[in-house]
Amino acid sequence: MTEDMLKTAVLYSAEAPNEEQTRRFRDFVRGKYGKDVDFRWEKTEDMLGGGFRLQIGSEVYDWSVEGRFQQLKEAIQSVSKRNQNVVPLIKETIRSWTPEAIAQEVGVVTTVGDGIATVSGLENATFGEILIFKNGARGMVQDIRENEVGCILFDEDGDVSEGSQVKRTAKTAGVPVGENFLGRVVDPLGVPIDGKGDIAEADYYPVEAPAPGIIRRQPVNTPLETGILAIDAMFPIGRGQRELIIGDRQTGKTAIALDAMINQNGKDCITIYVAIGQKTSSVVQLTNTLKKYDALSHSIVVLASASDSAPLQYIAPYAGCAMAEYFMHQGKDVLIVYDDLSKHAVAYRTMSLLLGRSPGREAFPGDVFYLHSRLLERAARMADEYGGGSITALPIVETQAGDVSAYIPTNIISITDGQIFLESELFFSGQRPAINVGLSVSRVGGDAQTKAMKKAVGTLKLDLAQYREMEVFSQFASDLDEATRKQLVYGQGLMRMLRQPQYHPYSQHEQVIILVSSMAHVMQDVDVDEVEAFIKGLLEKFRRECPEIGDEIDREKTLSDELRSRIVEVAEAYAKDFLRRRQ
Ligand code: ATP
Ligand code: MG
Repeated sequence: MTEDMLKTAVLYSAEAPNEEQTRRFRDFVRGKYGKDVDFRWEKTEDMLGGGFRLQIGSEVYDWSVEGRFQQLKEAIQSVSKRNQNVVPLIKETIRSWTPEAIAQEVGVVTTVGDGIATVSGLENATFGEILIFKNGARGMVQDIRENEVGCILFDEDGDVSEGSQVKRTAKTAGVPVGENFLGRVVDPLGVPIDGKGDIAEADYYPVEAPAPGIIRRQPVNTPLETGILAIDAMFPIGRGQRELIIGDRQTGKTAIALDAMINQNGKDCITIYVAIGQKTSSVVQLTNTLKKYDALSHSIVVLASASDSAPLQYIAPYAGCAMAEYFMHQGKDVLIVYDDLSKHAVAYRTMSLLLGRSPGREAFPGDVFYLHSRLLERAARMADEYGGGSITALPIVETQAGDVSAYIPTNIISITDGQIFLESELFFSGQRPAINVGLSVSRVGGDAQTKAMKKAVGTLKLDLAQYREMEVFSQFASDLDEATRKQLVYGQGLMRMLRQPQYHPYSQHEQVIILVSSMAHVMQDVDVDEVEAFIKGLLEKFRRECPEIGDEIDREKTLSDELRSRIVEVAEAYAKDFLRRRQ
């Protein structure tokens, strides 16, 4: 702002002030801004209801009818936000309300386009502050330069025109949160888009919040069961963990997250699905699936679709995380899925380039690492003194041709506590979920596994690694000795065991039964193509004939040697039966 501008006070009104009024305005201005401020009047027709506006530099005293009405509206909104029974309070507010002549900082739009506006004149605007445009559109300050600020727009930029006024709000971006959001589909600003009416919020949470520090955290030691055998057995996820799901397109990434969400039915865990840059039709389908499997009632879907602006896509995961934090602060467990962060990084790149930031590797801005680290750090397991709630994050990343060493994948791999790596080749060979056992890892979840699971899993990973090695060599050998052949058949059986259709989560004891039976070579003589049918029948038998075994595993959470031999016994009897029937 130049010195000159500060030296002129301009009064905007439809009618010229008379002599007496001019003298009073001049006195007011000089009293407040110093003796050498000039005063002049300018005619304007844009105040429909009469009144005036006084502007000194970027400060504006709005005494138009619209301006005062806006003040009253804000006063009413602030009482109705925190209270249930608002009608008497609103009446009281209106009765006791007196308009105030407060200076507001007002800027002017200099350029606008592609969801980005630059605004000049807002001297004191802070990073992340929400700005209100003339027509009510909202934006957020993302870039502060010498004479102007760069701002991302959350509403249609067609409504914002060059030269129009912008007001500061002194508030940072936030979203409404609360229990009423469960079962709903909302946009990244918390506005419902499922046509089921307004949502009454319990609170308002900032979109950007610092991650809990180490004192407020406790180690990850409670399992978050996904119901997917391969994951729960070999790459267990604990509450508060961040486990990346990574793979090429169409390899079943979303399917894993969706199954994990469905498996939280009746487990006292809230699930939030954040869709970033996806087709609206796939999200509709996902929502319907959640509803079909009774999982929507404990879920929130946050949607920033491919057709939404880059700023909206950018803010979506942070907004979803704020909604999760509300529940975590109440001591509840939350599972949040970010589907997917590659598209999120692309949206951020678009935004940054439009804001004029310098591009770096792959044209991403330099702070793209911080973009995801600050998001994923907000996943945590709180210490018991702080309620003991948790946020478990399942970020999803799409790779190109299985390249995990690309920029965004390596970044996110280094931030998370492990990754589940999905492979197209496995997927198309029918191995679904297409988890690459060699490249997947879970760095903290092992502590979260129950003793029963740990014991049942035994040497599974090692056996599979041996099988993979042998499989490569066996392709060259024409005839194999008996021991090697047996090893191969055993490995093939294990791989088949890990296949699991969608929406068929296994309970904890079912997983233990399957693992114990397979590791005891019970399926050795079963044809590999029949392993899936075998497992189905086996579980059925346990359910029907000896439900007490499952009950004991669920209750004790350990696996005694005695129980283990009983499982093997029942499984062997079933295998004999199974083979006889097939002959
Ligand atoms: P995109 O890259 O498009 O997001 P994605 O990696 O998220 O794809 P999904 O949409 O989850 O993949 O799955 C792709 C297809 O594979 C879907 O039709 C899904 O039904 C099927 N699919 C996924 N997992 C399994 C499974 N375990 N068994 C059978 N089919 C599956
Ligand atoms: Mg997907």
